[in-house]
Amino acid sequence: MSIFLSEKYRSLKAYVPGEQPRDRKYLKLNTNESPFPPSPAVAEAVAGCVGDLNLYPDPEYLSLRSALAEFHGVTSDMVTVGAGSDEILDWCFRAFFTDRGAAFPDVTYGFYKVWADLYSIPYETFPLMDDFSIDPADYENTSRAVVIPDPNAPTGVRLGSAAVERILRADPGRVVVIDEAYADFASGDCVPLTKKYDNLVVVRTFSKSRSLAGGRAGYCIASPELIRDIDLLRFSSNPYNLSRMTAAAAEAALSDNGYFEENVKKICDTREITKEALRNAGFEVTDSEANFLFVRKAGVSGAAIESELRRRGVLVRRFDGPRTGDFLRVTVGEASDMKRFVSEIASAAKTVAETGNLV
Ligand code: PMP
Repeated sequence: MSIFLSEKYRSLKAYVPGEQPRDRKYLKLNTNESPFPPSPAVAEAVAGCVGDLNLYPDPEYLSLRSALAEFHGVTSDMVTVGAGSDEILDWCFRAFFTDRGAAFPDVTYGFYKVWADLYSIPYETFPLMDDFSIDPADYENTSRAVVIPDPNAPTGVRLGSAAVERILRADPGRVVVIDEAYADFASGDCVPLTKKYDNLVVVRTFSKSRSLAGGRAGYCIASPELIRDIDLLRFSSNPYNLSRMTAAAAEAALSDNGYFEENVKKICDTREITKEALRNAGFEVTDSEANFLFVRKAGVSGAAIESELRRRGVLVRRFDGPRTGDFLRVTVGEASDMKRFVSEIASAAKTVAETGNLV
């Protein structure tokens, strides 16, 4: 840290992204990316806009916004776009949480705490129940603004729109942000509620189900009033937040719905097969509705299994903490890779148990 860093940032603890390895080739199941490449339509669309890179993009991103609005059956003034959903969530914290403070689960997406600290926003966390589900009553009884991923991360457990509706109704004077990064893999979503509730923001991403994690495109759906608030932040920080290439890639990915549906189905099918295989091998696995599984073996150190897997060329993610430290979050990859994963983790857990849980 230099002597020049502003005082208020000196104690900031940055978000730590999952590893992007450079040392060797791994079976990479640690950052919830799609195992499938983007739709072929994406390459064509990106190539088609290279000749216009001397020009700034449309700061309204009207073409992409209209396509997203049509896809979700809302009007284009109910949509805005971000460089990944992280950028949208960042604006939501600044726009809606600064006065009210924030409320979110104790086990959830680690970035929420970082944004709260970055913007000096007071926050409270509510513990998940024993089965890792969220108790909506916690959020009905707080006046703070709310952010919840649905399905939650890293558990994959879904809250569901009936519970979200209860939270929205409990206090129409505060904003509720539902982070739907993984909703395409789930049995339902909250987008329809945006037409009914003026205090709801649903945040989405192209990173997982549309294979564009490297493209950095996200969006949100909310009442036109909330979208204007978010755009106020967008135009006050980075009006050209998506490059022409990213906007074109996102629009092309959206247009290839067949490819998207096929990939989502493959991932959900593989998730269920992998979950059963892990349970049969004696692992505890949550009922995830996301593109990852949350897994542990009772009595065996999660940290030790993680490092044994790494030695074997398999990367997974682990989050330190009293309730999460022995769990591994495992991205669902292609069927053949997950077959290999099940045999590697079973054998890794056996090795660890035999050598006394040493990391
Ligand atoms: N929300 C949740 C719950 C996530 O897990 C992630 C992925 N790290 C994001 C948001 C951000 O994803 P992106 O910025 O790639 O859209």
